[in-house]
Amino acid sequence: MTTILIVDDNLLNLELAADVLELADFDVITASSGRESIEKAEQALPDLILMDLRMPEMSGLEAMLELRRNKITSHIPVAVLTASAMKGDEQRLLQSGFFAYLEKPIDPSRFGNQVADLISK
Ligand SMILES: [Mg+2]
Repeated sequence: MTTILIVDDNLLNLELAADVLELADFDVITASSGRESIEKAEQALPDLILMDLRMPEMSGLEAMLELRRNKITSHIPVAVLTASAMKGDEQRLLQSGFFAYLEKPIDPSRFGNQVADLISK
């Protein structure tokens, strides 16, 4: 079973992504803050983390950098899931350490396949 940790401070976004991935037969866990994402990642050791960027307290970028530095979680790929689609953003985010870039809002008809492609990378 492939486990995905989804991180988003917007609960509607979180539930939509979780529902779509559960229907696609992934094992899904969720976190609604950067801090919680680190705790859940340490406990569950997911195969992939999908990280929102704009969150209060700890941004998705900060959480990803902390997950990279953490010996327990440093091997887990972290993809950014964001509506921030300005030219150059994707390149900048990939250079900062994200494994992949997915755009919000998600397209429920494609999202399961997009995530499956990331897992097989
Ligand atoms: Mg957000």
